[in-house]
Amino acid sequence: MSIRALLATVMLVALAIAMAFVLFFIALLRTEIGSLLPIDIALQIDQSLQMLLTMQAAGLFVMSVVLAIVVFITIGYLLANPLRELARVMDTYATTGELRPVAGITEAPKEVQSLATSFESLISRVEVSHKRDQDVSRMKSDFISTAAHQLRTPLTGIRWALEALEKEQLTENQVALVQSAKSKGKDLVAVVGMLLDISAIESGKYQYKFEPVDIHALLDEVVQNFAPLAASHQISLFYSHEEEKTTLPSVKADYERIKWVLNNLIENGVLYTPPGGTVRISAEGAEKRVFIRVKDTGIGIPPEDKGNIFERFYRGKEAVSKQNAGSGLGLYIARTIATDHGGDLNFAANKEGPGTTFTLSLPVAG
Ligand code: ADP
Repeated sequence: MSIRALLATVMLVALAIAMAFVLFFIALLRTEIGSLLPIDIALQIDQSLQMLLTMQAAGLFVMSVVLAIVVFITIGYLLANPLRELARVMDTYATTGELRPVAGITEAPKEVQSLATSFESLISRVEVSHKRDQDVSRMKSDFISTAAHQLRTPLTGIRWALEALEKEQLTENQVALVQSAKSKGKDLVAVVGMLLDISAIESGKYQYKFEPVDIHALLDEVVQNFAPLAASHQISLFYSHEEEKTTLPSVKADYERIKWVLNNLIENGVLYTPPGGTVRISAEGAEKRVFIRVKDTGIGIPPEDKGNIFERFYRGKEAVSKQNAGSGLGLYIARTIATDHGGDLNFAANKEGPGTTFTLSLPVAG
C-alpha cells in the first residue's frame, strides 16, 4: 500500500470512528428525551433529532471523503512523489551507473531533501573511490604488462642458448640439467604469456573473435593432444558426449581462447589426480547452452580453498604439494574468458567419490 493511500485510509477510519461517536450520543439523547418528556413533545423533538442525525451523517460522510482526497493529493505531492523520484534516481544509478539530479523535491519536507542530499554525497564518494580503484587497477595492469614484456626477451634468449647447448657434446648429467632448465624455461614462458593475457583481458584490449564452434570437434582435438600427458601420469582420459555429434549445437566462442580454457581444465584434472585415476570429459546441450564437464577422481578442493581458487595467484596447499609447478593464474583467466563469452565456469565436489567436476557453460551460437 502506498504511503498516501495509507494516510487517506487512516483519515477515513478516524472520521468514521468520530461519526459513530456522534451518532451514538444522539441516539442516547433520543432515548433519554423519550423517557423524560410528555409523548407529543418527545415525538416532535425526536423528529427534529432524526433530521439532525441524517444531516450530520451526510455532512460527516462528505467531509471525510473530501478530507481523504485532500490528504491523498497533498501527501502524494509532498512525500510520495519526491520519494518515488529519489528511488528512480537510485535505480538508474544502480543499473546504468548514470547519476541524474533528483528533480522536483524543492517543495518536499526537509527530511526528504536531506535524504536526497545524503544520497548525492554518498554517490560522489563512491565515484571518487571507484575512480581511484580504476586508476590503481590500470596502473597494476600496465605494470604487469611491462614486466611481462621485459621478461619475454631475455627468456627467449635463454631458450635459444639452451637449444644451442643441447647440440653440443654433453655428458648425461649435463643433458639432464639442460633439459630441466628448458622445461623450467617453458613453464616461465607460459607464466609470462598468462601475465600478458591477464593485462590484455583486464584492460579490455583483448579482442575476441566469436564464431560458431563445434564443441565436439574441439574436445576431440584437445583430448587427443592430452593423451601423452595422461598416459605418462597413468590417468585414463575419456571424452564421452552425451548427445550425438549432430545434436550437440555449436557454441558462440573464440576457438583459440576456449581451447585454452579446456586445455587448462584438463591439464589440472590430469595433474591433480593420483596415478590410476580418471579424467572424464562430457558435453551436453540444455537451455540454449552447452555444458562441458571435466570430471576427475583427484585430490579434490578442500573447503578452505573453495572460495579462492578463482583468485589470481591462488594455489591450494594440497595442490602445491602434489604439483610443485603452477602459477595459480589458469582458473582466473579461464573464468574471465568464460564470462566474457556470456558463459560461466564453476566447480563442485563429486558426490559419489573423491575428485572434482569443473563445468564450463557457453551460449549456443545464433
Ligand atoms: P595452478 O593449477 O597453476 O595452481 P589454477 O588457477 O589452474 O592454477 O588453479 C588454482 C588452484 O585451484 C590450484 O592450485 C588447485 O589448488 C585448485 N585446482 C584447480 N583444478 C583442480 C582440480 N582439478 N582438482 C583439485 N584442485 C584443483
